[in-house]
Amino acid sequence: MAVDVMVVGGGISGLACARAASDGGLSVRVLDRGRRVGGRLSSRTVWKRAVDLGASYFVPGRSEDFREVVAGWEARGLARPWTDTFVVIDADGEQTLKQGPMRWAAPRGLRSLALDLAEGLDVRQEHTVARVEPYRVDGDDVGEVVLAMPGPQAARLTGTAPGVELAWEPVIAVALRWPTRQWPSDLRGAFVHGDPDVTFIADDGDRRGDAAPVLVAHTTAERARLHLDDPAAAISPVVAAVQRLLGIAPDPAATFAHRWTFARPVETAGAPFFRAPGLSACGDAWGEDAAVRTAWGSGHALGRALAAA
Ligand SMILES: Cc1cc2nc3c(=O)[nH]c(=O)nc-3n(C[C@H](O)[C@H](O)[C@H](O)COP(=O)(O)OP(=O)(O)OC[C@H]3O[C@@H](n4cnc5c(N)ncnc54)[C@H](O)[C@@H]3O)c2cc1C
Repeated sequence: MAVDVMVVGGGISGLACARAASDGGLSVRVLDRGRRVGGRLSSRTVWKRAVDLGASYFVPGRSEDFREVVAGWEARGLARPWTDTFVVIDADGEQTLKQGPMRWAAPRGLRSLALDLAEGLDVRQEHTVARVEPYRVDGDDVGEVVLAMPGPQAARLTGTAPGVELAWEPVIAVALRWPTRQWPSDLRGAFVHGDPDVTFIADDGDRRGDAAPVLVAHTTAERARLHLDDPAAAISPVVAAVQRLLGIAPDPAATFAHRWTFARPVETAGAPFFRAPGLSACGDAWGEDAAVRTAWGSGHALGRALAAA
């Protein structure tokens, strides 16, 4: 038997699970199909700098355990409080400022947090798993299998999504760069309501702290569904929407689109994770709302449960 726990999926939930199980004395390996871990904590180098194309930010939430991890990131300069205020743009184009919880960002991009969690773990990248059964990964015996990925991706490996079948929505993230900043300095991000194309716009230079004149816009699920085969085709309607919503006249100098077929579950399962003999699951669909803190909490709780058993 290769390891006590084989975690398939090196997003933040899989890494949190692996850490907790390993801290509990189990031998653990993480397999991820990507070139780097992080999954939807995705900072990709575009125009010679990291751009956050997946999660925009995270909120630490109430969990003392996650707050402790966040405090460690802050102490080491990996994460910092970004803003508690966004603009809300309503269907008539009216803009109001709205305060909410403090959102945290990562100066080197959010993926750097996943890389930090992976430090010291046995992680195999560019390893795509094809088939999972209880106690078996691609035909090899393991102690326990953990699937740490969106349910529809897990279902490709097992036949059905573990636990509960949930619907997921797509998003296309479009990065837009201008030669200089074209929007007000107090616009850190904007929630957009009632637009057919765009739901959220973030100032990537502001959240990363390098002041690069780069925005990242997230499409509506409806707009994304039209372009899943060719995400670049979403760029033109997104550019037009961003220019209209923020009153920007010049066209961007450069654009880049990234597709998330399974960006977020339409609803979450409520329970913190799924556990059955030989095959468990964790991720952001397990818990109260689909977010970075939920994914971490789900993986952490499952890893501890596996170690306790
Ligand atoms: C556009 C967008 C915006 C978001 N904005 C926010 C936000 O502002 N705030 C917030 O808190 N959250 C946000 N989220 C949600 C947040 O990113 C997720 O909740 C969190 O990253 C999910 O982590 P996870 O580990 O559950 O899943 P994932 O990050 O999806 O990890 C799954 C991993 O499994 C791997 N994998 C899949 N199939 C296989 C296979 N067959 N073999 C091997 N490996 C495989 C993948 O490569 C991936 O690394 C956003 C997400 C998206 C897409």
